Amino acid sequence: MESNEQTGQKKSARLRRQTAIAKILDDLDPTGRRKRNWGVEAACLDESPDTFYVDGSSGKDEKLQKAKDICRTCPVAKICLAFAFENDTHDYYVMGGMIGSERKAMLGRYIAGFDETVAAPPAEAEIIQTDSDQAVA
Ligand code: SF4
Repeated sequence: MESNEQTGQKKSARLRRQTAIAKILDDLDPTGRRKRNWGVEAACLDESPDTFYVDGSSGKDEKLQKAKDICRTCPVAKICLAFAFENDTHDYYVMGGMIGSERKAMLGRYIAGFDETVAAPPAEAEIIQTDSDQAVA
């Protein structure tokens, strides 16, 4: 049976995860645009979903690169990435230019950032830059 301390630790970990995801969503998509029909602007609109499903099979690296190259041109990439965090999208799907292991690593860095007494937002530099960002900048 689980002790009160173990239960408290699990609750604390869950709360930290939820807080980190909320912060990521704010950083990626402060306007909440994802609630609208952002998918119609997606660079992958005419691509097969299979293009973005990258598992451990052969050709993984090339497939991952192809998916990321498409995401890099996408005007709604940050919203897409926010959607992936919000919906805990399957690890093998590339969304917003990141596969599941990269999203997990990003989440881990946000959570770790809460432990630092003097901390800049940990993901400021890693949020993907798209071609449309560069056009605006
Ligand atoms: S970021 Fe990538 S997966 Fe997401 S909508 Fe754009 S092209 Fe599609």
